[in-house]
Amino acid sequence: MMRALQLTAPGTLELREVPVPEIGPADLLLRVGAAGICHSDLYALGLPVRMRDDPLTLGHEVAGTIDAVGSAVTGRTVGERGLVYLCWSCGQCRECVGGNENVCLAAGRGAMPPCPGLGPDGGMAEYIRIPANSFVPIGDLDFPQAAPLADAALTSYHAIEGAREQLRPGSTAVVIGIGGLGHVAVQILSATTTARIIAVDVDAKKLFLAANYGADECVRSDADAVRYILDRTDGRGAEAVFDFVGVDATVRLAVESVAPNGAYRMVGLGGGVSEIAAVPAGGPGLPWGATVRKSYGGTKSDLVEAVALARAGKITVEVEQFDLADGPAAFERLERGEITGRAVLIP
Ligand code: NAD
Ligand code: ZN
Repeated sequence: MMRALQLTAPGTLELREVPVPEIGPADLLLRVGAAGICHSDLYALGLPVRMRDDPLTLGHEVAGTIDAVGSAVTGRTVGERGLVYLCWSCGQCRECVGGNENVCLAAGRGAMPPCPGLGPDGGMAEYIRIPANSFVPIGDLDFPQAAPLADAALTSYHAIEGAREQLRPGSTAVVIGIGGLGHVAVQILSATTTARIIAVDVDAKKLFLAANYGADECVRSDADAVRYILDRTDGRGAEAVFDFVGVDATVRLAVESVAPNGAYRMVGLGGGVSEIAAVPAGGPGLPWGATVRKSYGGTKSDLVEAVALARAGKITVEVEQFDLADGPAAFERLERGEITGRAVLIP
């Protein structure tokens, strides 16, 4: 038996004793070293309906050690250390073979391939079953540093990768929401682009974190933020705006502060609605040429590159560690906005 942090009913998290998962021929059994808590886990906890009929083990940011190897798996050995790519895609379809595993065709129009902890059981437990091809080696990174790379770095990296064309010398990138994802996004921008980075958050502590990790300027997320960004960009706006919050106030900020031909990348899932009006530019809507992308997760190649950045010391996750048993308290602290960086559970 093993301990697992499970969603047992809407709004209810429980540490339970459950059987160690059985693995199939194409799977690995991973002994979990660390599992990050993402804001999306709070979203799952807050859903008014069950995600699954039986209790669901949460956790899609998982790192650990291979404990058993399925009979049909080649090239992996017990004792290897790695993390879990969270898109459990088919690997065969046009999108997967083209390197867009995050929008696998098998996932349909919803385009969210099975994700551990949000469908199949996740990694807030002592062990997790994973498909062997989701395992990505981490070298000598420690587990609490490695686990958040699986989403906080992957998703940030993908959003930035999709806006690289805009991130030329002289450009400005705005990062809204300096939480688990945003504080890593600031570092990826700093390490891989020459753009000036403007960080935006409601919390001064988070802005302080952004400044420590390479943001050039920090702004309170309030009614004056648009004016500030426009003033700093000669009235044009920022070439790329990454919104890691996604509430009404931040989607409006993104639309109003992105430059002509700029990239607005919607990552946060706060339920905000941005009005994109089919009217001449110049008003409050999107300027000419600007693009919007709802950015989901990332590709396996994005993850491999994000891990390489971390191994090179270019990304450091600000981690707050909790024992798995203290998971419910860690969730409450995240809900109250009290986590700086990423909360990570250690089984
Ligand atoms: P987090 O709780 O760690 O961080 C959120 C940050 O936003 C905090 O620093 C908070 O102070 C700040 N914030 C809150 N309201 C704000 C406002 N009005 N203006 C500016 N900043 C504000 O969350 P996280 O784990 O980094 O996740 C961020 C969002 O991204 C969540 O909505 C999550 O569900 C979503 N997410 C999306 C994907 C995807 O693939 N699209 C993947 C992972 C997470
Ligand atoms: Zn997540």
